[in-house]
Amino acid sequence: MHTLDATKTVLTMSANNAPILTVDSGDVIRLETLDCFSNVILSETQLFSSVGWDQVNPATGPIAVRRASPGDTIRVDILNIAVANEGTMTTHPDFGALPGTIEERTRKISIIDGHVHFDDHYAFPIEPMIGVIGTAPKAAEIPTGTPADHGGNMDTKKITIGTTLYLPVEVPGALLSIGDVHAAMADGEVAVCGLEIPACVTVRVTLVSGRPLPLPFLVTPTEAITIASREGLMDAVQEATRMMRDFIAENSSLDKTEALMLLSLKGNASISQVVDPLVTARMEVPRSFFAAYGISETIEV
Ligand code: CA
Ligand code: CA
Repeated sequence: MHTLDATKTVLTMSANNAPILTVDSGDVIRLETLDCFSNVILSETQLFSSVGWDQVNPATGPIAVRRASPGDTIRVDILNIAVANEGTMTTHPDFGALPGTIEERTRKISIIDGHVHFDDHYAFPIEPMIGVIGTAPKAAEIPTGTPADHGGNMDTKKITIGTTLYLPVEVPGALLSIGDVHAAMADGEVAVCGLEIPACVTVRVTLVSGRPLPLPFLVTPTEAITIASREGLMDAVQEATRMMRDFIAENSSLDKTEALMLLSLKGNASISQVVDPLVTARMEVPRSFFAAYGISETIEV
């Protein structure tokens, strides 16, 4: 197993970032991640505006995968996410789903016996997830705070332990980077942050030849999910739906009309987040549906 500490991080996903580790397909990597504030917020008296933008959303990496070539896909199995015992939330009136209505504040929130203790009234089990995970895009550098077709800051709560994320290879080696783990985050991420927390993430990275799936594509124990990030929420919902509808139509006996009818019955259009530079939506389909139409055998999901 390869190990990486969090001393080498990037703020962009880019072909210009030299890999800090090169692995073979099938290798397992255990990597540490900083919280989205580079671990610099140490107390509740430190507000978000004291954090430099060059300290926001660091991602550990990039990791190159040998023989990964543009046009391929990498499969990332998320084997474990171990989080620290205290997380941080910040709010700012310029950010979130209700700008202008909240104050700038910082909260430090303890995790005890696997539970988030929000206050004396309410505790709930942690649901660790990865906010930022992506590969280097073909052309431009994309800040780690932005989600797009390469993955990035998708803030999708279902990217969690026991799931598999497929991402595009756009540059030689793919250049995978991971950061911004949350101990908990709900769909929408309406206050602009989850429970931001340092973590240790274990993944297996496997090279898949070509592009058998619309990307990014997430497989959970029960669902197959397309993920899309666009400027507007409706555009993101449409793109995630189109990705799944066309994929089903191309890989089953259903045509596009029938596939959309079935999605209307069994595909959940869901919001991942509405607070990042692009917003992220997803289309979730039960894997039993894939099995019924023989799709899972075709693509090995
Ligand atoms: Ca994020
Ligand atoms: Ca975050």
